[in-house]
Amino acid sequence: MPRRATKRGAERTTLDRDCDVLICGASFAGLAVARELAGTGAQVLVIDRYEIGERQTSACGIPTAWLDAMGLRESLQQTFGELVTHTPRATVRYDLPWTFSTFDYRTLCELLAEQGSFEFETATVAGRSAGAVRTDRGEIRAQLIVDALGWRRVLGTGTPIQPPDALLSRGLEVHPHGTGTDMEIWIDRSYVPAGYGWSFPAAGELRIGVGSFDPRFHVREPTERLALDVGSETVRYQGNWIPHALRDATEDGVFYAGDSAGHCLPLTAEGIRTAMYFGIACGRELREVVSGSQTREQALHRYHAFSASHARPFRWMLRVQRLVPRLAPGLLTGSLRTIERSKRFIDWSFGHYLNIAHPDFVTHASRPVPARMPGLAAVR
Ligand SMILES: Cc1cc2nc3c(=O)[nH]c(=O)nc-3n(C[C@H](O)[C@H](O)[C@H](O)COP(=O)(O)OP(=O)(O)OC[C@H]3O[C@@H](n4cnc5c(N)ncnc54)[C@H](O)[C@@H]3O)c2cc1C
Repeated sequence: MPRRATKRGAERTTLDRDCDVLICGASFAGLAVARELAGTGAQVLVIDRYEIGERQTSACGIPTAWLDAMGLRESLQQTFGELVTHTPRATVRYDLPWTFSTFDYRTLCELLAEQGSFEFETATVAGRSAGAVRTDRGEIRAQLIVDALGWRRVLGTGTPIQPPDALLSRGLEVHPHGTGTDMEIWIDRSYVPAGYGWSFPAAGELRIGVGSFDPRFHVREPTERLALDVGSETVRYQGNWIPHALRDATEDGVFYAGDSAGHCLPLTAEGIRTAMYFGIACGRELREVVSGSQTREQALHRYHAFSASHARPFRWMLRVQRLVPRLAPGLLTGSLRTIERSKRFIDWSFGHYLNIAHPDFVTHASRPVPARMPGLAAVR
């Protein structure tokens, strides 16, 4: 259970202290790292600019098996066995080999936080100097520092990643009240030339949005149009940039997990389970440092190698992301229809897709398999 010491407004006090592990970012990646450090006795501090679960960062869709593996089923809202895809010419239904579910963000974050054992403070991270993180409330020093702050990679040493020039997609959604039974996506250039639209029902709410792989393309108008086209209101907006390229998972002594390391999958923009997956991998390495079984440098090396060993599927998905918008609409619809008729192909492809970050990893007690240190240049 996290011990909260949140300070707001006049109660906001200076935060100038040391800890063993400092986790910046209390969403999927950061809370997954913290979970793995429970019971180690390490002094773990998690910081975020908001309260835990306060600001939803996604449509909150995830393979159901991940909720079960993480003990987060209580947050589940709706489950789907099919993926329904609309193109301007047809609608196809894929009978999936595993189910996908929507969940409640706040509930999931709170459940995940309960699995950890850490102190929590609200503070906005501004940057870093040797061994310390600068926040709006002061400086925090730690031997082990994790950046789970999302796409901005706030603690990075290079030039800050800046849209629209960076390898980022952009996504925006509205959350009207409404019900539905299908998890639907639209591959339709009248909404977005490169990208897709979606509607995810979530127990009385619909999460309707548009994501563009081209960061220069503005998604507000098409998001509103899609919502109106399906008879919904355009209320309660939520949007963000989404990285679509793997980045180095360690840099200058800092561990990066989730969007800060580009762990969101290209093409589908699915980044929740991967944030938790790499967060767990990171946490397991930190655990070994805390117990004295390895040095911080060994942990940096192993975690970097583990993340980079996933470069191949990320690279493939990025290729498909670039290919799909180039297909002639007739060919695209024809291909989707052919796939619909081949359950074997659907099972095979979605099986591989799940394997990129499989839920079994959660219960797999051992640490990630050591790998050689591959370079990441080829991923970009
Ligand atoms: C519109 C949209 C819909 C999406 N839908 C899905 C989906 O259905 N399924 C899916 O798998 N993925 C989805 N994604 C992608 C997914 O949201 C991300 O990949 C995922 O949230 C990454 O998790 P994370 O923990 O790395 O970062 P985040 O969830 O972005 O969390 C970062 C945390 O850091 C905090 N923070 C940021 N900057 C600072 C700072 N300077 N100081 C202090 N705290 C800070 C934030 O408050 C936040 O709590 C969607 C993305 C968008 C934009």
